[in-house]
Amino acid sequence: MKYSLLLIVLFVFLSSFQPLESKVYICGPTGAKKYHYKENCRGLTACRHQLTKVSLSQAQGYGLTLCGWED
Ligand SMILES: [Zn+2]
Repeated sequence: MKYSLLLIVLFVFLSSFQPLESKVYICGPTGAKKYHYKENCRGLTACRHQLTKVSLSQAQGYGLTLCGWED
C-alpha cells in the first residue's frame, strides 16, 4: 500500500513538471512590438523603458513578434 502511494506521489510530481521555457527580453512591461533573445540586441538600444524578462509564450501572448535584428 505504501508503495502504490509513493507511485501516485511520483506521478503527480512528474506530471506537474514543466520543461524550462526559453526567456526573451521585451521593452517595458508588455514590450513594444518585438521580443528579443539577446539582452544587448541592436533592436533594444532604442528602448527608453526598462527591459523586462518574460517567457516566450508570454511575449507571444502580448502579440509581440521576433525582432528583425535577431538571427
Ligand atoms: Zn532584438
